[in-house]
Amino acid sequence: MAAARASVSGGNRVFNFKLVLLGESAVGKSSLVVRFAKDQFDEYRESTIGAAFFTQVVPVDDTTSVKFEIWDTAGQERYKSLAPMYYRNAQCAVIVYDITKAETFERAKSWVKELQRQADPDIVIALVGNKNDLETNRAVTAEECQAYADEGGLLFKETSAKTGANVLELFQTIAKKMPLDSPKYNQ
Ligand code: GDP
Repeated sequence: MAAARASVSGGNRVFNFKLVLLGESAVGKSSLVVRFAKDQFDEYRESTIGAAFFTQVVPVDDTTSVKFEIWDTAGQERYKSLAPMYYRNAQCAVIVYDITKAETFERAKSWVKELQRQADPDIVIALVGNKNDLETNRAVTAEECQAYADEGGLLFKETSAKTGANVLELFQTIAKKMPLDSPKYNQ
């Protein structure tokens, strides 16, 4: 894994991490990033084709921040062969499903398996059930996903890119989970 270099700016340490977004098409990956980076939601946005790139800084404490380089990947089946290129040198992955579509949770689980087999063994993985504003259409329970996440050592959150619920918390939780004291990141 390419080491995320810590840089010092004005007494603050900033750690850079590559974060990849994975999940079935239309689960809300791009919407989550737009909510996180710009605090906006666009009901009519087109699904992502190819990969978009954003950076966003999350403070961890008074002197330390994490800068995520977010790759909004082509998680769609037709781009599947490109996926290893995205996650190979990633230090974190956000695997998104739609709580109203059970098959997207199944797909998320297969991404988890693939990363556990092929990505860096230290990768931090967050499983995210998005669209939790659509409670009446819920098809996947939070309890089931929490149990699955606990078993695999994954972070787990339910979010809504639409209302903004839990979106900032998701990225803050990931930032706090990154092993900043590891020699890997302090070369
Ligand atoms: P992507 O293909 O995974 O990047 O998904 P998009 O971000 O393009 O979102 C797909 C569709 O789901 C769009 O119509 C979004 O407006 C909608 N969407 C995304 N997030 C949410 C959410 O949290 N709640 C609701 N109700 N709709 C959402």
